[in-house]
Amino acid sequence: MNRLNRLIILLVFGPAMICAGIACNRQVVPASQINVRFGSYPSSEEISTYIIQLEKLHPDYADIYEIGASWEKRPILAMRITDEKSGDPEKKPAMYMDAGHHGNEKISVQSALFFVTYILDNSERDPLVAHLLKTRTLYVIPLVNPDGNNAGERTNKNPNIPVDLNRNYEYGWQAGFDKDRAMLYGGTDPFSEPETRAVRKFVLEHKNINIALTLHSGIDRLHTPGFTIQENFPQDQQEYDIISGEAAILAGRNGFYSPALSPLGIAKGGGGAGTTMAWLHANSIYAWTVEVYGDGKYPWETVDKYNPPEKHIEDLCNRWLKPFLYYWSTLPNLGLYGVKVKNDTLYITVGNDGKFPMDALVQVWKKGQKVYYLSVDNLRENSREIMIPLPPEELTGDFMISLSGNTTTGPQNDIFKLSLSLSGTTWSISTAEGTFESKLPLMNFFK
Ligand SMILES: [Zn+2]
Repeated sequence: MNRLNRLIILLVFGPAMICAGIACNRQVVPASQINVRFGSYPSSEEISTYIIQLEKLHPDYADIYEIGASWEKRPILAMRITDEKSGDPEKKPAMYMDAGHHGNEKISVQSALFFVTYILDNSERDPLVAHLLKTRTLYVIPLVNPDGNNAGERTNKNPNIPVDLNRNYEYGWQAGFDKDRAMLYGGTDPFSEPETRAVRKFVLEHKNINIALTLHSGIDRLHTPGFTIQENFPQDQQEYDIISGEAAILAGRNGFYSPALSPLGIAKGGGGAGTTMAWLHANSIYAWTVEVYGDGKYPWETVDKYNPPEKHIEDLCNRWLKPFLYYWSTLPNLGLYGVKVKNDTLYITVGNDGKFPMDALVQVWKKGQKVYYLSVDNLRENSREIMIPLPPEELTGDFMISLSGNTTTGPQNDIFKLSLSLSGTTWSISTAEGTFESKLPLMNFFK
């Protein structure tokens, strides 16, 4: 966020919101002292206070944006989480996550906040998190429907007829259903509601979003767009199947069952019409509806089919930590792993440590002239060493290497400026722009 916007938010919104929370305390306090402890279900005001404090505690990793307001004028906040020192946050491949479209599905909000908190608290301690923060961006709207959260209701607080926000998106939208069943009422038009308009604007403004998770509860399931959308995007089904399957295995540990997998069709109306997920996919973003809790599978799941008893909140949030990190790590991430000179030949190693495949174009420039290019197809959780046959007299000096990737989820471009010099028999390589990436076998973290 630019400094001006940050200032406006702090002036207009920050103090007011902090005072609206549990204590009028403008000092930075440890996250553990804020009333979001993953052992209770906080109010929308407490959640806003918590998000603001997270940003203050982690200024190099978190930014917040006020992206809109609900019918009852509660702010809707979005977070951007990434290592701001490494690369342009708006150009790194990004995952989008939202929660709390349905105000009564409070555990979805807790799961998103727990995920964000873990990442920020472990930005330097956990090597997987540190790497993901360097190479990828995460956008989160932890609570889309703050009015519904405070009222404990599924719908928003539209004073005419409350709207089911997860039926108010454009793709496959229908007003749907009789007005007495506001539970699935899609509104007067697509994006008739301020809450969904805020989501739309935020998502469309961030072209680096490649995949998305939209969190719900009430059933224990990973939904993919399915049916009609699948007919439009048949090539995507393989990626959905692979990633859903692995995420489900990761969610089925520590005493939890694996969630069921299911396509959520829109062809027959009902279930999938006008959902966030369908709209995201129609905008070329791989999207899952993650239902984090429900189905009555556990003995302690007796009172509320949407939310676990408070003493089980943290376990439930913990359950989703690995699957969410896994989803984030699947983003294609093209990197330059190394450059070396051996036997008077230049070697460049390029790789993609994400799960989504990528075709890369490697170009090498010297003194403004392109001296070499090669396309490397289907990089996916691997790397390739390229041998560049330059005449020996060409090997010293300043080089520019550009990597451009065409992925199934969008483009990526990186530039590196390097200087090669020979002293005696030793080559040295210095980088003027761009950084080498550590070659981290990401999938080992999920074994
Ligand atoms: Zn829901």
